[in-house]
Amino acid sequence: MPKARETVLEIDLGALAHNYNYIRSRTNDDVKFMAVVKAFGYGSDVTGIAKKLVELGADYFAVAYTSEGIALRKAGIETPILVLHPQSINFEAIIEHCLEPSLYSEFVLQKFIETAEKQKQKEYPVHIKFNTGLNRLGFSEKETSIVRDLLKGSTSVKAASFFSHLAASEDWREREFTLLQIHTFRKIALKLYDELGYRPMLHICNTSGIINYPKAHFDMVRSGIGLYGFGNDEPEDQKLKPIGTLKTIISQIHHMQKGDTLGYNRAFKADKSKKTATLPIGHADGINRQYGNDRAGVLINGNYAPIIGNVCMDMIMIDITGIECEEGDEVIIFGGPQHATKFAAMGNTISYELITGISQRVKRVLIGN
Ligand SMILES: *Cc1c(COP(=O)(O)O)cnc(C)c1O
Repeated sequence: MPKARETVLEIDLGALAHNYNYIRSRTNDDVKFMAVVKAFGYGSDVTGIAKKLVELGADYFAVAYTSEGIALRKAGIETPILVLHPQSINFEAIIEHCLEPSLYSEFVLQKFIETAEKQKQKEYPVHIKFNTGLNRLGFSEKETSIVRDLLKGSTSVKAASFFSHLAASEDWREREFTLLQIHTFRKIALKLYDELGYRPMLHICNTSGIINYPKAHFDMVRSGIGLYGFGNDEPEDQKLKPIGTLKTIISQIHHMQKGDTLGYNRAFKADKSKKTATLPIGHADGINRQYGNDRAGVLINGNYAPIIGNVCMDMIMIDITGIECEEGDEVIIFGGPQHATKFAAMGNTISYELITGISQRVKRVLIGN
């Protein structure tokens, strides 16, 4: 890869393939793989990622919102796509683009059936979401009869799957709670199997669930963060490869005298003479103010350089005193030798938030295909 000449997020499709194959190796061959590509593929490049995942053999995609599913269809993706969080206003568009809705309440299930009937659909595939303890979306265990009655009352839809979501699959201290969620899910599914007379697929595991609860893979697993190279703990992180490297360059170097101040509100004051560099990336690119004022740093020619002063909308400044570098040199914000989990921690957050927050203004560059 040539050195960066501007701010870019490099996406390594070779690393994506490595992660996919690793996660797949942790499931049985007959378990289907749903690749979660919501939020632009966790802030990467959803089209590039999805095309590679089709090639690798992903059985299903999941997105959060209907518009994300439509974008994948427009990019030519023909794989089934689950929309995790549709609203009833989207139901016609869902059918029009052959997307499969997650239906999580009596209201949306009813509404979707009405839409499917109006459009003369037969056995349109839907996914019924159950709440087993996250208390975010889903029918409760007490509401299974509502699901049964609505599904039995119409031939316009058919459940392709039942699913639920774990609240703390990465946290060993919550193992008992997680096992209870899995138990509740199994109970609900078996009851509905009996009452419906057919067997939709079952799935409950996200990435950490796949790793930590191998007996709960059921018919399909849903992996997001692992595909992008993060395992939610140290040993798993080591087996995965982060696919993204956020790079920028030095726009300008300044020499400050003792007592000079830098940036908005003069938040940084030089206690001795300093050399600083200004970089073309700021909070509008997803490097939020939490990273400023010496809390996080970047790598320049292998050296750690702290971010000083307040993060600006389009720029940050770093302290490069004692570091040999010049204007135009490449700077690594995260990726490669600076793990994104570590960078995220310096900004008081987690990899999920850091990577999904890299704004669409940052150019994506695919490598490693
Ligand atoms: C985002 C999401 C996932 C993916 O979780 P990861 O921890 O990124 O693997 C799976 N299922 C649901 C319902 C989600 O919202």
